[in-house]
Amino acid sequence: MDISIVIPLYNEEESLTELSEWITNVVTSNHYSYEIIFVDDGSTDNSWQVIEKLHANNANLKGIKFQRNYGKSAALNEGFRAAKGNVVITMDADLQDSPDEIPALFNMIHESNFDIVSGWKKKRHDNTFTKNIPSKIFNAAARWSSGIKLHDFNCGLKAYKNKVVKSIEVYGEMHRYIPVIAKWAGFRKIGEKVVEHRARKYGKTKFGLERFINGFLDLATISFVSRFAKKPMHFFGLYGTLFFLCGFLMSIYLIIAKFTIANFALTNRPAFYIALVVMIIGMQLFLTGFIAEMVSRNAPERNSYLIENRIE
Ligand code: UDP
Ligand code: MG
Repeated sequence: MDISIVIPLYNEEESLTELSEWITNVVTSNHYSYEIIFVDDGSTDNSWQVIEKLHANNANLKGIKFQRNYGKSAALNEGFRAAKGNVVITMDADLQDSPDEIPALFNMIHESNFDIVSGWKKKRHDNTFTKNIPSKIFNAAARWSSGIKLHDFNCGLKAYKNKVVKSIEVYGEMHRYIPVIAKWAGFRKIGEKVVEHRARKYGKTKFGLERFINGFLDLATISFVSRFAKKPMHFFGLYGTLFFLCGFLMSIYLIIAKFTIANFALTNRPAFYIALVVMIIGMQLFLTGFIAEMVSRNAPERNSYLIENRIE
């Protein structure tokens, strides 16, 4: 099979028919063998009934329905598990992404051999203040911390080699960082394509302003996890030692000063308290590092690698 199109959706009943017709037109006119996988993330409207009806007319169109709303990441992850096509394309269900981009994305994976191609909504049709500006800041932070030069990490329209989606796990709200997750997994050929972005035609956005707060917290997690998850002591040990040394040197200085420069009560010196606190923080960081090492020693994935090739 050439293409799997994975579409996470939550309460998008109005868009589904139009979207699936449009996709079907594009893929059949390009003679691709394909499947469309709608992942219904616990919709409370009639989305699932619409999907059932669409499936009745087109067996290439499949559906998975969650018992409740688990979030876009979970929906994508489940779609990835099911996808059979050589190229897997994800797309939002709200008609903001254009199916006309499918052939070009397919060719970038199939012919230009990219592992991932991420869409870039260069000209966005969203609210400037609640989305466009915060998203610029967010993308700059993501670029800086991951070293991946993408303009638009969170674009729903992306294409992957099948083996990429089978090698990664998207959980929590990490769908914003799939390129980063794929990069750790060792997929380095990450491309970008400017894509058309359209205004939302039906329904409303499922993500409010909290997306940016959560987005930044997740970014902190992800850059920490990528660097130190398997060697936490290299982080906590370093800063713990630095803190402890600072505090220790300060107290040594205070004691020497007390006996040589002037005989003062140590408790009258603010530096004394600062030195104590800094030493305690240092010790705590160090101990946290030890505990984290114990945890990661016992983590089931402590020794999980992806093997690209083998000669036997
Ligand atoms: N979505 C989902 N589960 C959720 C929230 C959203 O599957 O809990 C889907 C939603 O139906 C849409 C896509 O994720 O297909 C992107 O959501 P939305 O259009 O609300 O985000 P925006 O375009 O505003 O960033
Ligand atoms: Mg949208």
